[in-house]
Amino acid sequence: MTTPVEPLSPGLYIVATPIGNLGDLSPRAADVLARADAIAAEDTRVTATLLRHIGTKRPMLAYHDHNADQVRPGLIARMGAEAIALVSDAGTPLISDPGFKLVRDARAAGHAVTTIPGPCAAVAALTLAGLPTDRFLFAGFLPSKAGARAAEIAELAGVRATLVFYESGPRLAACLLALAEGLGDREAAVTREITKKFEEAVTGTLSALAARYAEGGPKGEIVVVVAPPGAPEPASADDADAALAEALTRLPASKAAAEVAKRLGLDRRALYARALEMKG
Ligand code: SAM
Repeated sequence: MTTPVEPLSPGLYIVATPIGNLGDLSPRAADVLARADAIAAEDTRVTATLLRHIGTKRPMLAYHDHNADQVRPGLIARMGAEAIALVSDAGTPLISDPGFKLVRDARAAGHAVTTIPGPCAAVAALTLAGLPTDRFLFAGFLPSKAGARAAEIAELAGVRATLVFYESGPRLAACLLALAEGLGDREAAVTREITKKFEEAVTGTLSALAARYAEGGPKGEIVVVVAPPGAPEPASADDADAALAEALTRLPASKAAAEVAKRLGLDRRALYARALEMKG
């Protein structure tokens, strides 16, 4: 049982909670939840279960997409004198969950904002996928309508980073097919039920994964991780000629060849010979 010892200083506390395994609640998160004057929760029933797990009871109020605009001003006013904790149903608040406007307005009102970091499905999935993690783009949920989804995927196609998507079982096959179509057949991972009993990470190309899940999506919560695009196609002879022709209008042959070689990643000497040829 966590017993409140001294009050927290007033302000907003962003508290990450487990994404499945209650053992992942950090001692600091439990401490802040037990000492907060009030907890703003996406679903108070879900958070009540978490509070029971740590043996505490705190006043709670709902803060979710449908009431946030009405509830926010009252919460901001309370932060001047009270410690308000924000939690979502699972994981890190603000990450595909409500909260960024609360943080923005709390700062604007001069209140302290403290984060208690912890589980986040996107980061956990990256640790399971075995794909590059030096650059990644978190894309959240793709639109469910096919046209809007394809448009968003097309926007992401040129991004030179690993892509991370949140998904649900019933939409998984269509999502994988759309990703294969829009991004090319890249390596990917479907990670599921992370930190829970049936945790799994299935890897393969997007088309192989789409075929695997074509019969119907698996149960549970899902994160799809997609590898970055491969090395760009080398420039064609036509591209090189066009670039050289343009450079020759400004530069002598040797400098034009050097500039185009650097820009297109081609051989400088071959370009120089071609430049002399083009000059006639
Ligand atoms: N704020 C949360 C976080 O930090 O990850 C995400 C909330 S978002 C509304 C819920 C989505 O997160 C799910 O649809 C799923 O894509 C992903 N997710 C949450 N828990 C997960 C888990 N245990 N395993 C896999 N994906 C999970």
